[in-house]
Amino acid sequence: MSESERRPLLERFPELKRSVPWLRIARLPTPVTEEAELGRALGCPQPLWIKHDERTGEPYGGNKVRKLEYLIAAAEQAGVERWIVYGPLGSNWVLATCVYGRQRGAKVEAILFRRPLHEQARRNFSIDRELADRVRVVPHVSLVPLAVAWARWRAKDRTTVLPPGGTSPLSTLGYVNAGLELAEQVRVGELPEPGAVIVAGGTGGTVAGLWIGLRLAGLSSRVVPVRVADTIVSNRWVRTRIVRQTLDFMRSHGATFELEPPKPRELASVRGFLAPGYGKPSPAGEEVAELARRDTGLRLDPTYTAKALAGLRHWAAEHPESGPVLFWNTYHSQTLDGLAERFGEKLAGR
Ligand SMILES: *Cc1c(COP(=O)(O)O)cnc(C)c1O
Repeated sequence: MSESERRPLLERFPELKRSVPWLRIARLPTPVTEEAELGRALGCPQPLWIKHDERTGEPYGGNKVRKLEYLIAAAEQAGVERWIVYGPLGSNWVLATCVYGRQRGAKVEAILFRRPLHEQARRNFSIDRELADRVRVVPHVSLVPLAVAWARWRAKDRTTVLPPGGTSPLSTLGYVNAGLELAEQVRVGELPEPGAVIVAGGTGGTVAGLWIGLRLAGLSSRVVPVRVADTIVSNRWVRTRIVRQTLDFMRSHGATFELEPPKPRELASVRGFLAPGYGKPSPAGEEVAELARRDTGLRLDPTYTAKALAGLRHWAAEHPESGPVLFWNTYHSQTLDGLAERFGEKLAGR
């Protein structure tokens, strides 16, 4: 088996490999690099490392690709032709689903609610319109359930509605695997054991999966989310619940292991970096994104990763004794040019 085909989670729990839908979509493992220059620019007292999940897939990377390995497999196993996906206008999750749905030959129906758009979100939206079978924009988030119900009714039963942000106990396995993947990289000496893994916190699947994977591997690195979405969707209790649900899901599919779920305070986030609001660029985020671009060439996004790096700078200064800090880059971070064109014929007139 080539390196890119391995999934430490499924090797460790062959029962899951037998009973859980899974497809190889991502290119893994993603690399880790030490970033001394950026660390100095951010004033980090500790060594700074980056986990490059912008490289999870072709032609679109980022954290959603690890989740889609499971969600797409489940949709295909259920034999549905049409996937319904929803999120805010310009959502990375919706774009990732459109890209990989198109690649797998599924029809994707995207339901998007209005919100202010920054440049990257505008690009995402225009690619959604190229790749999706149907795009519906509703004026307010409160209208999403109605639009979803209508879309389901029209498609009869041959459809699946994907979970918001791609987060469910099934898809969280993608980040349990990611935690185990990082632990293997530590074991073979690609990086030291991080004192903290700092990552943008949205619907929480990424954080929850990483926590489980790192603990199953016996690492004690703290998982530190930076809150970039409203408290109602992004909080320690939600993250802890996803951990519990994912552990239950794994056990109910035959995996056996010893692991107590965390106390909610263990998954508390770094706060103060969401302002001026979800999806709106912040001055601190834009400032550190510029440093990241200059020192590493990485392009961060204003909604998640720029604010997460601003949160990292703050957290690192407050915890000088933490040991190495790992920034988990969850954004695609590469050009979106030509993404739709790579799929051949364009859907004219949509
Ligand atoms: C969706 C997204 C996140 C949040 O992931 P969750 O699993 O929903 O917490 C973080 N970063 C980027 C770039 C994303 O697109």
